[in-house]
Amino acid sequence: MTRTAIAIVLAALATGSTWALGNGEHSVRYLMGTWCDLVIFDPPPAPDVAESAFREIARLETVLSSWDPTSEVSRLNASAGLGPQRVSDDLAAVTDESLSICASTRGAFDPSVGPLVRAWGFYTETPATPAPDSGRAAASHVGCTLIKVDRDSRSISLAEGVALDFGGIGKGYAVDRALEILRARGVTRAKVDFGSSSLGFLGRIDGGWPVVIVDPRDRDTPLVSFRVSEGSVSTSSQQERYFESDGRRFGHIFDPRLGLPVESRLLSVTVIMPRGSTADALSTGLFVLGAAEGKRVISRMPDVGAVFVEQGPRDLVISTAGKVTGLTRLSH
Ligand code: AMP
Ligand code: MG
Repeated sequence: MTRTAIAIVLAALATGSTWALGNGEHSVRYLMGTWCDLVIFDPPPAPDVAESAFREIARLETVLSSWDPTSEVSRLNASAGLGPQRVSDDLAAVTDESLSICASTRGAFDPSVGPLVRAWGFYTETPATPAPDSGRAAASHVGCTLIKVDRDSRSISLAEGVALDFGGIGKGYAVDRALEILRARGVTRAKVDFGSSSLGFLGRIDGGWPVVIVDPRDRDTPLVSFRVSEGSVSTSSQQERYFESDGRRFGHIFDPRLGLPVESRLLSVTVIMPRGSTADALSTGLFVLGAAEGKRVISRMPDVGAVFVEQGPRDLVISTAGKVTGLTRLSH
């Protein structure tokens, strides 16, 4: 890619608009419930390279989607209470990583939130508050200690009533795998973007890849930008999947310790780090923990940066933790 082409792309990003067509090979596919945007910059790829990355993401969806009753995770969930079940390498890897983030966030990120997500109707287009009994029953089946992994036999056993949900980590895992495929096919510079909730970059550009965080309340308004050398960026917020009831707003991220949707002044958390799966899981976990506790968790981790956007008394409050390079305020 020429210097001029990169400059045009940077200018497009800095103004919050999408990548201009003509700068790199640009492909879009609806996957994992959102638009996946793939841009290959260097070198010009063979015709089926983007397709091979999309195929891999589509395959992972058949492993990890809780929306699809025939996916591998749905079949595992259906066998809860029936003892150890052998699983694929991908399901084992995602479960392992989820349990490790569950430990490092002290249970704030918890892949066993499935019963809560179902009870509150977030597997449908019409979420709603459950009857108190079913809400409590769902909450009683949530907890990382209810999941047992046996690495030697690559099997997982779930206690009765437990259901795994990888909505908080799956896109980040898919970004990692898509970038691996591109790298193996000789691509040196590329970007994978799942509706800006999980982003991954392959290769480096001078000054770092620019990333924009939008105002969670109004996604057309860019809020801040920063630079990433290589790796992943993941953002969690309650602003896209939520419902309102009695003047309260209930979103799709649950506090597993309370068994309820998170209600706080935190509007979004963005995590920047090398691995997409970890960035994705951490952004969900930090959203549950809130800014103060989230910053304490980040301070123990190398190579992690985070940007928190909170509703202050009047204006938005933006703060960071760890490694965030070139943070620039764009509005407000
Ligand atoms: P994200 O947009 O990555 O923050 O993921 C949100 C999704 O993760 C939700 O739609 C649920 O499927 C799932 N989820 C909700 N709460 C949690 C939690 N506390 N830990 C792990 N996954 C969660
Ligand atoms: Mg996440």
